[in-house]
Amino acid sequence: MHNQAQDISYIINHLGEDHASYFNAIAPPIMQTSNFAFETVAEMRKAFEDEMGGYLYSRGLNPTVDILRKKLAALDGAEDALVFNNGAAATFAGVVANVKAGDHVLSVTHPYTWTAHLFDTILSRFGVSVTYADGSDAASFLSHVQANTALIYLESPNSWWLDIQDLRAIAEVSKPRGITTLIDNSYCTPLYQKPIELGIDIAMQTATKYIGGHSDTLGGVLTGSAAMMRKIFNSEYLCAGNGIQPFNAWLLLRGLRTLPARIDRITASTQKVLAFLKTVDEIESIIFPLDPSYTQYGLAQQQMKNACGLLSFYIKAQEIEKIEHFCNSLQHFRMAVSWGGHESLVIPKCAGIPQNQFDATNPTHRLVRLYVGLEDSEFLIKDLSQAFKAASLL
Ligand SMILES: *Cc1c(COP(=O)(O)O)cnc(C)c1O
Repeated sequence: MHNQAQDISYIINHLGEDHASYFNAIAPPIMQTSNFAFETVAEMRKAFEDEMGGYLYSRGLNPTVDILRKKLAALDGAEDALVFNNGAAATFAGVVANVKAGDHVLSVTHPYTWTAHLFDTILSRFGVSVTYADGSDAASFLSHVQANTALIYLESPNSWWLDIQDLRAIAEVSKPRGITTLIDNSYCTPLYQKPIELGIDIAMQTATKYIGGHSDTLGGVLTGSAAMMRKIFNSEYLCAGNGIQPFNAWLLLRGLRTLPARIDRITASTQKVLAFLKTVDEIESIIFPLDPSYTQYGLAQQQMKNACGLLSFYIKAQEIEKIEHFCNSLQHFRMAVSWGGHESLVIPKCAGIPQNQFDATNPTHRLVRLYVGLEDSEFLIKDLSQAFKAASLL
């Protein structure tokens, strides 16, 4: 039977919207208010008893944010969602809510920059230890679980090497042991991977990237069980005060309307750009999860519905100048952090090291990440082609 609650078009266009309560406007209002009034003491008491049960103060729930919450939970097949000011805030809350002094966190290697900072610099101050392990083989990754492991942090794929983990296998071992699993699912979005359905407890994504889609706002999402979202809401969400603001939630709702169309187009363009990159002499190898050359191709095919947007490659270069010249020569791929917006982007790993420390024998120094945006693929390939030509003449 057709299950409307799981239909992406229904979720994005209808779920959570109550047009009659706002003059049958098509676009929901930005409920730009800090507080909400009550008619009776009894009503106010009820709100104090359970802030997640109604509107009291916009550091907690807000009607514009709630529409987004409902849609994002449903897209993930989760019971509930919380929306934060940005992805880093979402990860922070999801992790901190699930550890205490004396606990251990097992994380995949190469987590997102600020996740690594949370693990290395902040958690250690509060007596929480962290082990990093390669997540490509579930059994060897899980061999690092300790008696005091409270949380397993995954990122599949991650954003430079596009490493993936076997989510179902990791969830199957973690769940009976009472270990909470949290994944950064930003690369795939719920359209291409549904971690909750594979048994992961908490799915995080930065809404700054594909959900917003226009490089004009930040946002972050956690989804999971109603009990888990309630636990985080009643503590870290309300206490850190990092819930999304109504206007930014409205921008994310606006972005969400076109998410499937944008992802479709980016997927098609990425395939074309990938095919072009394979013909380029200056490239040593390419990392893309759904390319047969990818080290975990079988698992990627099995676990992810598709892949798009971000891909990385190693440039053949003896000198840093060649990589810099390639990036500097691009006219339409903008050089910037982030991704998921309309504009194509490039970022070389060597931008993060002093120029005189470049070591051509270290492949990471020669790694370049591309994000394929919404421009026409031929337009992008022309730009890449002329930049590789310029670099090859150096
Ligand atoms: C950007 C990003 C984040 C952080 O999200 P913000 O919205 O920038 O705070 C987390 N994880 C991944 C993989 C990202 O790319």
